[in-house]
Amino acid sequence: MKLFRFNQGRIGVGIGDEAWDITDALGIDVAMWPPVQMVQLIADFDRRMKDITSHPKAKRVDLASVRLEVPIEWPNKLLAYPVNYIKHGQEMNSKNRADLNGFFMKANSSLSGPNDPIVLPDLPGREIHHECELGIVIGQGGRNISREDAFKHVFGYACLIDMVVRGSEERVMRKSYDSFCPFGPWIVTADEVPDPTNLQARLWVNGELRQNANTRDLIVDIPGMIELASRVATLYPGDIIATGTPEGVGPVKRGDRVRIAIEHVGEMTLDVK
Ligand code: MN
Repeated sequence: MKLFRFNQGRIGVGIGDEAWDITDALGIDVAMWPPVQMVQLIADFDRRMKDITSHPKAKRVDLASVRLEVPIEWPNKLLAYPVNYIKHGQEMNSKNRADLNGFFMKANSSLSGPNDPIVLPDLPGREIHHECELGIVIGQGGRNISREDAFKHVFGYACLIDMVVRGSEERVMRKSYDSFCPFGPWIVTADEVPDPTNLQARLWVNGELRQNANTRDLIVDIPGMIELASRVATLYPGDIIATGTPEGVGPVKRGDRVRIAIEHVGEMTLDVK
C-alpha cells in the first residue's frame, strides 16, 4: 500500500487504484505539534491500520486531486550514506565512501514534499547539486540489527533527493538547508516492492536524463546500511536512510525542474526556486 500525507497534514492510504482519507478514522489531530503523526502510525501500524478502510470515518479520496505533502515530517533521524556507487566515487574523485566512512546526517528540517519547491540559498558562484537516492523508511526500530534481520526492519521506500552545496564547509551544513531533502511522493510499503536490491532510479533536469542507476550496484547494500547504522544509533520507526547517489550528479539553478522516478516506488517533479 501507499501511505501519504496531504492537504495540511491529513493522512491517506492507497491500495491498488483506490485511496482513502483515514485521518478521522485514525483519530489523528492534524494540528498536533511536533508533527509526529506519521511516525506514531508507523510505530503501531498493524494494530491501527486493521480494517481501516471499512471504518465509518474512512473517506474515499481522489489521489490526483489532493496536494501531497512530505510523508514523514518529523522523524527521529535522517541518516545518509556518502558515495555508495563506484562510478559516483570516480566522478567526484572522492575517497569518502560509504564502506569506508559510514553515514552522516542531514537536518530533519531539510525534508520537503513532492509539491514543495527546492529553494536555493543565495550563494553566488557555488554549485548546488542534485543527488538521486532511494529513501528507506524504518518500521520496527532496534539496535545492533544483523544483516540477516535487516529487511524485517524496513517499513517502506520513497524517492529522495539529497541536495548539497558543493564545497569544503561541514557536509551536514551544506546538505541541511530547508527543502534540501525532497522526499515522497508517498511511502510504498515494503511488501509492494518486489526486489529492493534491483530498483532502477532515475533523475532528470528539465527533461534531460542525468542519473540512471540500479540499487544492485550499491557498494553498501540495504542490509549493510541498516546493520552499520544500528550499530551506532538505535533506529526508530519512521527513521529515514538516504542510500547514496549514483554517478551523474550536477548543478541545478533557479527555474529548473527536477524529476525523480524509482521503479515500484513512484516519481515526483520539483521546481527549483
Ligand atoms: Mn547523497
